[in-house]
Amino acid sequence: MRNFSKSKRVVIKLGTNILSATRTADKAATLTTNGGIDSEYVVKMAGQVNSLLKMGKQVVIVTSGAIGMGAGQLKLSNKPGDVRMRQACAAIGQPMLMAEYRKAFEQFGVTVAQVLLTAEVLNNRKTYLNLQNSIETLLKLGVVPVLNENDSISTAEIGTAFGDNDRLSALVASKIDADLLIILTDIDALYDKDPKKHADAKPIDTVFEITEEILKSAGSKGSKFSTGGMKTKIEAAKVASNAGCKIVLANGKAENVIERIIAGETIGTLFLPKRKLSNRERWILNSTPAGVINIDDGAIRAVKNKKSLLPSGIKSIEGTFEAGEVIWLNNKAKAVTNFSSAELETLAGKHSTEIRKLLGPKRRDVVAIPEDIVFVDY
Ligand code: GLU
Repeated sequence: MRNFSKSKRVVIKLGTNILSATRTADKAATLTTNGGIDSEYVVKMAGQVNSLLKMGKQVVIVTSGAIGMGAGQLKLSNKPGDVRMRQACAAIGQPMLMAEYRKAFEQFGVTVAQVLLTAEVLNNRKTYLNLQNSIETLLKLGVVPVLNENDSISTAEIGTAFGDNDRLSALVASKIDADLLIILTDIDALYDKDPKKHADAKPIDTVFEITEEILKSAGSKGSKFSTGGMKTKIEAAKVASNAGCKIVLANGKAENVIERIIAGETIGTLFLPKRKLSNRERWILNSTPAGVINIDDGAIRAVKNKKSLLPSGIKSIEGTFEAGEVIWLNNKAKAVTNFSSAELETLAGKHSTEIRKLLGPKRRDVVAIPEDIVFVDY
């Protein structure tokens, strides 16, 4: 179902939690050698980004970790709460962070560029256009822009901060017309309940619409070193989704996670771009399908062009369902079927004129009408 082959411009957001080396036993040593960043991880991630570049995609990275690295360098055990200390830590940590990116990408012959942002830069039309020009130019040159908030000069106290890099990444993805925003964190997916509190919490594969309920399902804050929790990630997903961007939230530590996401593997949670839906379409999308009707390419093309689904295009049926239930069409669209699975077994491949002959009078002459077919990805 997931298909990112057409996603040309990808923004990848890397959180402090996944960039930090485990702060365990040899804490002091880790912190003094490289400020606490997991250099090996950055190299692996750079390799995956390089694969995307080779596929012809453009990649922008939004990174956290400046304040954390600065705090590590100063041997502080916590990310400082005090504004001035945070500013100082960011000034210390940001060049260290960039050095890690530069070193890692160099191994693949890829050049990185640092771009530091404040909320003011994005809000002001002139500076925003300058930003857009420089990012476009860097991308054309095959360079990977690495963005972060300019924490040394922007603070929440003077209203110039983004608050967290989740929001920053969503705003950037929206403003540069990215097709896909990948938010990498230390949680596998969005769950239907807070997984830290409920053992039976289930991961959600796809969010068709970011509703109040989804926002409420988000758990609390992340670690002491990161700013954003699940809530800020969903709020960020909402911003990007409103701008027509797809968002995948996944565990950044999963093996080859970036390449697997791009290959279409169902990993993490996919948030689809916002679109106008009728109440019925919304109901169809949010229903769990009772089975699958496998249809041929011609039928897929027809229903995509707002035609009804006819029995002649049906190849096979999976599952047992009743007329009126929501089913999958090839895992591509959800639809309300006018016939039960047993009836469809009889009808598969037949011409519409045979429906009444086979099933008796007063039967519908199509399997599903266009209004009852909603493509999940579009
Ligand atoms: N800009 C901050 C940093 O680089 C991180 C903010 C966040 O994690 O959301 O340390």
